[in-house]
Amino acid sequence: MDSYDPHAIERKWQQVWEEAGAFATPNPDDPSVADKSNAYVLEMLPYPSGELHMGHVLNYTLGDVVSHVRRRRGFAVLRPMGYDAFGLPAENAAIREGGHPRDVTDRNIAAIRAQIKRMGWSIDWTREVSTAEPEYYRWTQWLFLKLYDAGLAYRKAAPVKWCPNDQTVLANEQVIDGRCERCGAEVEATSNSGCSRSPRTPTGCSTTWHCSSRGPSAC
Ligand SMILES: [Zn+2]
Repeated sequence: MDSYDPHAIERKWQQVWEEAGAFATPNPDDPSVADKSNAYVLEMLPYPSGELHMGHVLNYTLGDVVSHVRRRRGFAVLRPMGYDAFGLPAENAAIREGGHPRDVTDRNIAAIRAQIKRMGWSIDWTREVSTAEPEYYRWTQWLFLKLYDAGLAYRKAAPVKWCPNDQTVLANEQVIDGRCERCGAEVEATSNSGCSRSPRTPTGCSTTWHCSSRGPSAC
């Protein structure tokens, strides 16, 4: 048996798949998939706050196996890819790398896309999105306004974690042993009972947005 040369063999077949559009999936009303069952495979969208690591390789390889099995079983498999580009990880990356968040994010997305293509995962690249692009987040804003208009999104005081050093609210998972994961400062807990315990928040009051299927009156 000839030895396996990944550089030659994988590049060759990845190019064949790309030219054939092997993993592009038409919309359900397309005649080519009209008689097929549909499957949607999305593991998660990676944060473009760095490049992919071995944890991603495990995650997306498992999704790739599921996708291939379903295709072999006759499903029209939609497997998109995208980048979860807003939030503290992108902000931290920009601080760490010393650049504008837009530049750092775009650079990391280009690097991640190249890594994914080298891995040969079966992605429909016509379905690529980035949550930092206006053509994407206009829809999340649209959805929010729908919730707001229906009375299902409202503003009220609630307990939050506050980093006095970074002047920002933190998610629970961004607090490690009572300290901010970014800067190590002791995190302040604010109360939903009033404004007096969080004098340094920008508004002087810890308010946050909530979405609820029950509406404000139930809270
Ligand atoms: Zn902090």
